[in-house]
Amino acid sequence: MTKIARIEPIPIQYPDPNDFGTIRRTVLVRVETSDGVVGWGECIAMWPEACKAVATIIADGFLPLLQGDIAEDIDAAWEKMRRHVFWYGEGGIASLAISGIDMALWDIRGKVAGQPLYQLFGGLQHDRLLANASSHVNKKGEAACVAEVVGFFEAGFRSCKLGFAKKGESNIGGDPDTDVSFIRSLRAALGDEAEILVDIGNGVRWDADTAISVANRMGEYRIGWYEEPLYPTDDAGYRKLAANTSVRLASGEREFTEAGYRRQMEFIQAIEVYGVDPARVEGITGFRRVDALCTQHGKVINAHAWSTAITTAASLHLSLASPNAEIFEYKPFPVTVQDDIVTEKLWHTDGWAYPPTGPGLGIEVREDVVRGLAF
Ligand SMILES: [Mg+2]
Repeated sequence: MTKIARIEPIPIQYPDPNDFGTIRRTVLVRVETSDGVVGWGECIAMWPEACKAVATIIADGFLPLLQGDIAEDIDAAWEKMRRHVFWYGEGGIASLAISGIDMALWDIRGKVAGQPLYQLFGGLQHDRLLANASSHVNKKGEAACVAEVVGFFEAGFRSCKLGFAKKGESNIGGDPDTDVSFIRSLRAALGDEAEILVDIGNGVRWDADTAISVANRMGEYRIGWYEEPLYPTDDAGYRKLAANTSVRLASGEREFTEAGYRRQMEFIQAIEVYGVDPARVEGITGFRRVDALCTQHGKVINAHAWSTAITTAASLHLSLASPNAEIFEYKPFPVTVQDDIVTEKLWHTDGWAYPPTGPGLGIEVREDVVRGLAF
């Protein structure tokens, strides 16, 4: 049995062309066993102060807690971390910190077993998944925004998810007529077959009636889902919306725990598609628990992967092994944390996401590049 010898949080920063060149931050976790197996994980803390807090929880809390424990006993480590943070956990910074260590331990377990993670999750449920270009609508003027998405399809993508009201030069995101006009023009440009997913997002503040009206107007152009048009905790608003549109509603990426998703599915009962990020929801273990809830309740799971290739790899294994996944999101613009921190970029082939073949996460992390991004 191999033991946990070292745990190191590594906060990194990088400019992201997928977010109009903004400097983004996250925390990677490197776990090494007593016989030298290295696993990688990620905590998607994003804000500089949150990255520092996560790194402190890992270095001062989880390292002494887990050092010397058996690395393959992930359930025990996960329970131990959750018990340790009981007073300040059940979501937030603590869940981010648990996520990175759990992901790294799964990477180690796969490497020790010599198997890709989806095998350890029970095998493939999909031979491949539809590749989705997940981007922000941020160009000046509707025509430029439409042309950009057309370019993604010309480059091979078969699906797009478009975030509204993001940084940049676009006025799309907030004014219902402008937003519906964009979707109408985009449908006309892409043709009937293309999948269009709409992510209204954090920058828009609509009441439920406005969200209903926009959903039904966009629904005429056959959008695949309508994500977070209301604040994520507006339970009454989501219930009203679900009762007044047949467009599928997506949300959930801001939940942290299995309990949060259970509340959504059992109590609120408005959302069909759940965004779940393994770098946020207490790791691969947490993701799989939410996935089991989705199976139980007949819901769609969508792996949120808005950060590095480490989380993308985890999300890819989890999605391919889940009966509840429909698509796989990629960032359509090159970014160093996807392209350069691994020896081989995770990318689609002809518009499809295929299973990686290597053991564990199936990626080889270039530690020199990671160290160069540390802050
Ligand atoms: Mg979203």
